[in-house]
Amino acid sequence: MTERTLVLLKPDAVRRGLIGEIIGRIERKAGWSITALELRTLDQETLEQHYGEHQGKPFYEPLVAFMSSGPVVALVVEGERVIEGVRRLAGPTDPIAAAPGSIRGDYGTIVRENLIHASDSEESAIRELKIFFPGLS
Ligand code: ADP
Ligand code: MG
Repeated sequence: MTERTLVLLKPDAVRRGLIGEIIGRIERKAGWSITALELRTLDQETLEQHYGEHQGKPFYEPLVAFMSSGPVVALVVEGERVIEGVRRLAGPTDPIAAAPGSIRGDYGTIVRENLIHASDSEESAIRELKIFFPGLS
């Protein structure tokens, strides 16, 4: 089942020089491909749309401040079961709970600065891809 997902390499990943490392892991999965890629600094409005489900939670304001603190790399990844697959490569939200071998488990310690965002379902992927890559068919 070929799918499309939105991946963001968060500002901590870009600052720490981990773009190549993280993209390499995604690229090496059989049959997956990167079909769009952009380095960009996110504004408040984009982040409000993207993280709308978390508005009102205690971590929301610091999350938006962090996500706009420097450029992110936004990617579209296509391939077999890519939505679940990238979530698995990323590991759970809390990097300390994430297994070694996962991106968050290998490189993260702080819950907020957990390196990568990946759409969590088909519905989220469709919604998020529209926000970041409105021109996609
Ligand atoms: P995920 O990115 O794994 O889908 P969530 O959607 O629950 O996680 O949260 C979105 C992002 O908000 C997380 O990736 C993380 O950067 C941040 N976050 C989530 N929970 C917390 C928390 N308890 N404290 C600080 N930041 C958090
Ligand atoms: Mg989420």
